[in-house]
Amino acid sequence: MVHRIFLQTCLLWLLSCSLTWAAQDRIPVRVGVFENPPIVTATPGARPEGISIDMIRWVAEQEGWQVTYVPDSFDSLVSRLHKGDIDLLVGIAYSDERARRFQFGRESLIGNWGMVFRHAKTDIHSLPDLKGKRIALMRGSTHSQALVELLAQFDAPFTPVYVDSYPQVLEAIAERRADAGVVNRVFAALHAHQPDVVVTSIVFNPIFVHYAAPKDASPALLAVLDRHLAALKADPESAYYDSLRKWLEAAPAERVPRWLPWTAVVAGGVLALALVIAGFLRHQVQRQTGELQRRADQLQSEIEQREQAQEHLNQLAYFDGLTRLPNREGFRTVLNQTLAAMHTDERLALLFIDVDRLKNINDGLGHGAGDLLLQQIAIRLQSVLRAHDHLSRFGGDEFVVIVSEIGESSDAELVATRLLQSLSMPIDIGSTQIYSSASIGIALYPDDAITEESLLKHADTAMYQAKELGGNRFLFYHAQQTARVVERLTLDTRLRQALERDELLLHYQPIVELDSRRIIGVEALLRWEDPDRGLVMPGAFISAAEDTGLIVPLGEWVLEAGCAQLRDWQRGGKADGVTLAVNVSTRQFEGRRLVKSVEQALSRTGLAPEFLELEITENVMLIMNEDVRSSLDSLREMGVRLSLDDFGTGYSSLSYLKQLPFHTLKIDQSFVSKIPGQAGDTQIVTTILALAKGLGLEVVAEGIETQAQYDFLREHGCEFGQGYLMSRPVAADRLVAMLEQPVLEGKS
Ligand code: C2E
Ligand code: MG
Ligand code: MG
Repeated sequence: MVHRIFLQTCLLWLLSCSLTWAAQDRIPVRVGVFENPPIVTATPGARPEGISIDMIRWVAEQEGWQVTYVPDSFDSLVSRLHKGDIDLLVGIAYSDERARRFQFGRESLIGNWGMVFRHAKTDIHSLPDLKGKRIALMRGSTHSQALVELLAQFDAPFTPVYVDSYPQVLEAIAERRADAGVVNRVFAALHAHQPDVVVTSIVFNPIFVHYAAPKDASPALLAVLDRHLAALKADPESAYYDSLRKWLEAAPAERVPRWLPWTAVVAGGVLALALVIAGFLRHQVQRQTGELQRRADQLQSEIEQREQAQEHLNQLAYFDGLTRLPNREGFRTVLNQTLAAMHTDERLALLFIDVDRLKNINDGLGHGAGDLLLQQIAIRLQSVLRAHDHLSRFGGDEFVVIVSEIGESSDAELVATRLLQSLSMPIDIGSTQIYSSASIGIALYPDDAITEESLLKHADTAMYQAKELGGNRFLFYHAQQTARVVERLTLDTRLRQALERDELLLHYQPIVELDSRRIIGVEALLRWEDPDRGLVMPGAFISAAEDTGLIVPLGEWVLEAGCAQLRDWQRGGKADGVTLAVNVSTRQFEGRRLVKSVEQALSRTGLAPEFLELEITENVMLIMNEDVRSSLDSLREMGVRLSLDDFGTGYSSLSYLKQLPFHTLKIDQSFVSKIPGQAGDTQIVTTILALAKGLGLEVVAEGIETQAQYDFLREHGCEFGQGYLMSRPVAADRLVAMLEQPVLEGKS
């Protein structure tokens, strides 16, 4: 854990250094701008303006960018971006097709969708009404393209009237060169009140507006933009929201039609005449105008309500309320669209992600904390995906990612690695820091399956296997895994029978004082002598037993069998001063049952409490509820020793450690296996040793396999150790032979 933080700190430092150098050089950035207010304006001779420009200016100021604006039509900017003539294009909507040609920033600038406007004298209310009409479309706009495709689906041919900007779309309608036209909702927010141009209730193609860079450009520019945008969007007082308010809430910029001055003169004359002739008529006109305005407002607000309702329904049907990610239904739609758009030689990967041990967090810290954690996890996962990968949440602790454009399976591996890394830094939930991890299963299309259902099933199976191997890892799907899942379903029944039929036994591994090589304790490790499979190791069944709760009676059996064995050795005078370490699962704490079973085991076997040491994994810190806390205190009062197992792998919380009644800390073998070679891990081990000393704890190093490890640990003040170098776990009769030798010699 410490080395992860260390690595991350180094990376952040390197990143910030490179950014600082970049700022000193004043990076020249060529930004393509086109007429698409209020996102961007590109009036010849005037400075570009708009929401995206406000953001560019803000970032440029922070980063010392030297920005040059390149005004052009959207269409030619797209081809300039393709050629690398500009470094950034602002206000470009994301689409899968474009993502194949350009790099997109992860953070969108704003959500947007297409709207159809019509001339007041045409009768257009729904999509089919557009059949046979002249429709003004901006060249290159995704909304225009989407409408063309929609109308093709409706089998509604029409006459396109192509123009170069959104203002020209409205102009074409006002001048009746077109019956209707397509603009986006952000633009419409400013121009909805133009004379003779009326909004219809046709809305379509929700998209997100981004910044894009050429495909082969360095990703650093977009990364910097993303970082600033994410920070700005997270702060309601930031320049981002100032800009939205400025542009979206501004008074509608009325466009004055060419005929208006003449009409005004005539109307003025008529009005003056009317005033003279009959004041009463003027009153009528005013009343009716007011009424018309009221109806128009009412209509507008009805349209808005209907849009909101539709949006809300979409949200419910396709999105998950907690994380705002697409739900299973949303996932299905995206997957099927992606599969349909794929060429025959393309591949895709489905990554099934399951958060490890979420249940512990829900049980220990409450569901509110679990929900907050899931939200943070969703953000972390999303943050390392490319814009065209799709993350969805299936409910509970399950997420699924669609990774398209996979070349080699190693591409999927890279994504999975990044996803796991994104969770490696602690997440703050209130005052608690939580270390999360996940298990990921990967299925490939078309290699493993070609239907949505089997792809999901296979990815799920692989995930399950990854979880069984201890979590915090990914696995690709293999056909044999399906057989293992079926096996697991029968495991529970067979394990229950094993307990009844006396098929369980204990092996013992010596714990040695490193200076003297004397055995000072033994750890009891559970084994299952399965008549069909032979000796089964705990890794194959402990986690299943924890899931079903069978671990509680299993753990009680271990306690009693272990205590009885040590007492037996003591009676034979063979185990003077030797302690017995027993692993206990956090589930055994429920209802303070552990305290009762320890009392019972000690009283039945007659073993003195100071010879018993309970090994509890770090995860216990997470469920530090009243049962656990008070049980630990009672056990310590009874005189039983407490040891924190696998230290460094899970939810290490150093502040907690100080308050808890532990005697011993066991450094996990994953660290020991890397010393004395790797600097980072060596440092972790020495840090843990120093920490333990400071807290007055004894330290046992687990998994010592080489003499070099042994020597390193001894030289750095580690007093005790355990590992294959001294002895593997062995059956009781072999251990008793070892106890008879005063000093443990060499390897087993
Ligand atoms: P653990 O408590 O960390 O136990 C140490 C594990 O490391 C044992 O694996 C041991 O055989 C292995 N080991 C010891 N020295 C070395 C070494 O030098 N190199 C390597 N590579 N491994 C070494 P085992 O027996 O397979 O047990 C695995 C885990 O299963 C244990 O990890 C413990 O968490 C769990 N377990 C075992 N027995 C029980 C039990 O009775 N109750 C509960 N709740 N869990 C148990
Ligand atoms: Mg242990
Ligand atoms: Mg351990």
